[in-house]
Amino acid sequence: MAASDSGETNITVVVRLRPRNQKEIRENSPACIHTTTNRRELVVGDSITAKSYTFDRVFGPESTQNTIFNEVVSGMLNEVLMGFNCTIFAYGQTGTGKTYTMEGDLASEYSPDAGIIPRALYSLFDTLDSEKAEYSVRVSFVELYNEEIKDLLSSDEDKKGLKLFEDSSRKGSVIIQGLEEILVKSARDVISVLQLGSGRRQTAATKMNQVSSRSHGIFSVTVHTKENTPEGEELLKVGKLNLVDLAGSENIGRSGAENKRAKEAGVINTSLLTLGRVINALVERSQHIPYRESKLTRILRDSLGGRTKTCIIAAVSPAKCNIEESLSTLDYAHRAK
Ligand code: ADP
Ligand code: MG
Repeated sequence: MAASDSGETNITVVVRLRPRNQKEIRENSPACIHTTTNRRELVVGDSITAKSYTFDRVFGPESTQNTIFNEVVSGMLNEVLMGFNCTIFAYGQTGTGKTYTMEGDLASEYSPDAGIIPRALYSLFDTLDSEKAEYSVRVSFVELYNEEIKDLLSSDEDKKGLKLFEDSSRKGSVIIQGLEEILVKSARDVISVLQLGSGRRQTAATKMNQVSSRSHGIFSVTVHTKENTPEGEELLKVGKLNLVDLAGSENIGRSGAENKRAKEAGVINTSLLTLGRVINALVERSQHIPYRESKLTRILRDSLGGRTKTCIIAAVSPAKCNIEESLSTLDYAHRAK
């Protein structure tokens, strides 16, 4: 059933707590965030001062890529096949597992480290091949850095600074000028395309300080299907899945505004701030949703609000040395509920 029909919001918020990394272990920074036997609860701090948070679902350090896929993504794929738009965001401080969760190991579909994108595509093509008479799948991959749009799938190095246009034929949608939408025939196809784009993002990151942690990667899959109804009519459906690896949240303070340090350094992540406001406005059912205030929310406008589904995966480190950032992430995520 459509959640919007039942009066519920279509936004779910889950948390993924990664294991402590080598650095945190070496520095003896203890784990200070824990899961409980309740799959929705997260406890921060030790017994006396502990604070508990509740989300739609909490995944502990032992959770596998497969579990995340089954519990977060597979239901959304059904929605996409029914012709709806869905978005999954990975939000969190740099180094907490956003890219691991979204992409993970792209080399093999059988790798236990394969993330949401490869798993979603293998599953999607399996379903399409076995159930749908006719279909086409197109993918695009853009990077948003400093409110500038770059096409990661274009071989043209200069394809950046792309402009957005309102789509007059579909109210609320925008078109990205000259964006390559690549027709893909199999999941393997998509993985090679993705590796190419992801590689371009990496290269830029080493050349220019911290681009990858300050940029958003938006990978979109558009699925067209055509079926014949028993009445002999053609049924066309178009659904879209957006998989968004957000910029590191380290410049967003606990109030949901950019922190003082970021302000002083002039690093403002307009899209990350606006996304928070748009989600809050949707959750609170405000009259005005400030989509127009950032490129990210303009690009995703037809996939946020209305008859769409959104999931935010908040990635956090369990270690005490990251507690301030983790609390900030949990606060941001909690406001979206
Ligand atoms: P981010 O994209 O948020 O900056 P990454 O996804 O690059 O972070 O993760 C940082 C490092 O931690 C990577 O080496 C990644 O493989 C590892 N990592 C992240 N999450 C997990 C996890 N749940 N299990 C194992 N390793 C993880
Ligand atoms: Mg990353």
